[in-house]
Amino acid sequence: MSRATSATIHLGALRDNLRRSRDLARPARVMAVVKADGYGHGLERVARAFDEADAFGVACIADGQRLRAAGVARRIVVLSGIDEAADIAEMHRLGLESAIHHRSQIDWLEADPDPRPLKVWLKIDTGMHRLGFPPEQVAAAHARLLALPNVDADIGLMTHFANSDVFGDTQTTAQIECFERIASEFPGPLSLSNSAGLLGWPQARGHWVRPGGLLYGISVVEGRTGEDFGFRPAMTLSSKLIAINRIGRGESIGYAASWTCPEDMDVGVVQIGYGDGYPRSASAGTPVLLNGRRAPLIGRVSMDLITIDLRKHGDARVGDAVILWGKDLPVEEIASRAGSIGYELVCGMTRRVRFLED
Ligand code: PLP
Repeated sequence: MSRATSATIHLGALRDNLRRSRDLARPARVMAVVKADGYGHGLERVARAFDEADAFGVACIADGQRLRAAGVARRIVVLSGIDEAADIAEMHRLGLESAIHHRSQIDWLEADPDPRPLKVWLKIDTGMHRLGFPPEQVAAAHARLLALPNVDADIGLMTHFANSDVFGDTQTTAQIECFERIASEFPGPLSLSNSAGLLGWPQARGHWVRPGGLLYGISVVEGRTGEDFGFRPAMTLSSKLIAINRIGRGESIGYAASWTCPEDMDVGVVQIGYGDGYPRSASAGTPVLLNGRRAPLIGRVSMDLITIDLRKHGDARVGDAVILWGKDLPVEEIASRAGSIGYELVCGMTRRVRFLED
């Protein structure tokens, strides 16, 4: 028999989350961000569920190849764009759109002999300082692109927020103002907002919003879950109890003997560990759901197993289902116990986790 560990993806939740995003975004259109294998939910699967998206945003051409192979005909924007000159031919073959964030990408386009126009989005660095042209270089980059016969003249403008999950944050206000100042000089579609932008910055809708996390029901707003904003978790990670052991008072549990039993007690062993993608950094006290009630993690997370305190679960039996995150146990809460964010956890499932759909 295979391991009990499984990630169930709730297609209805994905659909509802997209619908809610579209309602919030209107009249802006929604580019559903499906990079990192659909935030760990499975790229082809989420693309199917997001069939009402206006476009998809992906990290790399390989994602575009997978989407096209799965029959996706929608617009697809590669958010970091072409990585080398040879990518241009593949972008054409697949009908992908490219972010243009660096002058070397324009050099490659200028040298490309293919006369077919490529659709591009000029990425502006309004303060994130990761990808994009600084404001003073945008006009020149735009002019170079516009002069190229192999670039579609309807050039989009895009920026990305560094801190939009802090509502009211002054850096985001400055980023929006900077973007608006530049955008007023050019025609073409505009795109600013990620999930947190969509939630907290209605003045930053532009023509396209680019939510990722919210589509999977996950928030990065400190102390708030996706459910707090009306979104539904799209992944339930579950496993089962494979042993219940009576351990004596004063005995320690697991590696590094980091947790000591305060009394004689039952300790449950659950078949999941960091080898599945459950975070090793989850601290003692991190909850799991056992028969619908919370039980705290005790001891270190190991590769294949975790141990839980069963003192309040006298009815627990070997074989009982254990939920690690999902409905009633937000992945955001588990992530905060592990010094991480929900995005990282759902992206981290390893190949031995079985994926199911409902
Ligand atoms: N747009 C860009 C350029 C991104 O890199 C990302 C993800 O990091 C997103 C949109 C989606 O962000 P989020 O998942 O926070 O909505």
